[in-house]
Amino acid sequence: PPASPPASSGAAELPCAPAVAGQHISLQHERGQQQVFCGLAGIVWLHRKIQDAFFLVVGSRTCAHLMQSAAGVMIFAEPRFGTAIIEDRDLAGLANAHAELDRVVTRLLERRPDIRMLFLVGSCPSEVIKLDLARAAERLSQTFAPAVRVVDYSGSGLETTFTQGEDACLAALVPLLPAATDSAPSLLVVGTLADVVEDQFRRQFAALGIGPVDFFPPRRSTALPAVGANTRFLLAQPYLRDTARALEGRGATHLPAPFPLGAEGTLAWLKAAADAWRVSDADFATATAAGVERAERALARYRPALAGKRVFLFPDSQLEPVLARFLSRELGMTLIEVGTPFLHRAHLAAELALLPAGTLITEGQDVDAQLDRCRASAPDLVVCGLGLANPLEAEGIATKWSIELVFSPIHGFDQAGDLAELFVRPLERRQRLTGL
Ligand code: SF4
Repeated sequence: PPASPPASSGAAELPCAPAVAGQHISLQHERGQQQVFCGLAGIVWLHRKIQDAFFLVVGSRTCAHLMQSAAGVMIFAEPRFGTAIIEDRDLAGLANAHAELDRVVTRLLERRPDIRMLFLVGSCPSEVIKLDLARAAERLSQTFAPAVRVVDYSGSGLETTFTQGEDACLAALVPLLPAATDSAPSLLVVGTLADVVEDQFRRQFAALGIGPVDFFPPRRSTALPAVGANTRFLLAQPYLRDTARALEGRGATHLPAPFPLGAEGTLAWLKAAADAWRVSDADFATATAAGVERAERALARYRPALAGKRVFLFPDSQLEPVLARFLSRELGMTLIEVGTPFLHRAHLAAELALLPAGTLITEGQDVDAQLDRCRASAPDLVVCGLGLANPLEAEGIATKWSIELVFSPIHGFDQAGDLAELFVRPLERRQRLTGL
């Protein structure tokens, strides 16, 4: 279910100039009713990435239903996520929730010896009853060490959006990363990427002579990358504020860059690492030429369907400013409004600088007011969450589910065409349905 924090006393729109790069854009803040999934949704892609981890949501039946429906397409014999249901007795304080949790975890780990890391994922109900999951994780870690590590983070839906679940998960892992002892610099790519994309980037960095390279999160929890003062990190996702801060706290240095979506974004992202490794411009051009060429050829196929079309992006995944840059600069779409739940000014500075002059960015949401603006603008395509997509489709507006963009492999040169195609499909479907 979408997390719907209570409406504020009134929507406040405060147009102001951004304090960082992107002075040419128009930034407004909005507060009010939101329509977003909670951070539990992150489990859907995190459990696929960290293959020896289990995500145990400590929550209600509502949380269990969310996981079931969000991840329902991927139910298999031995799932690596589940929900320890908090019953009415727990909510009323009649049961010892810690003892119950210990019992559930013991049973789970006895049945599943393949699990090496157990995440206790907090939810709205566990926070309401003030269940101290940090204490539980510490206690269970001692019980099950060294075979299993137990880590806690919150996926609660209050005042958050669904991609913050990944940020909270990775930030919780940062203290467990071993200390790097090497004096040579190393590169850490931060943010969940599909394995196929990770392999492509590994080859690309090797061709550039950049390394050693690690990815965080890793595919196995037993292979956590080391971090230290010589670690340089690139963010692969724009929603990792707390993780980046935690890595900086361990001495690592962020390499500011646009995000690797589309040919242009991927090239600029790689260039940030190449500059840190002092790769010459000529060598950089040689090592990336084939990738750029493949991406541009793929994009050319989809540009005619998208160029000149008007797109409205609702705030949902925090990928919106990055997608807006890709859609406007590489596919010729016109941006009506670019919503984002939160705007991390520093991490997105390079993206904001690339947006067309006059781009309207809305941080936060007052969903009814935004829907009114959306309808009035008669967009060709709306990028939004599942809760808004069906009603807008019923009104005859083509929509793209933003959560799909987080599940799909969309990063890098070789996925640029696939990313463009994700926006072409709803337009084609509408065309087939209406004949227009
Ligand atoms: Fe709903 Fe909160 Fe559970 Fe998310 S964590 S499913 S918002 S009750």
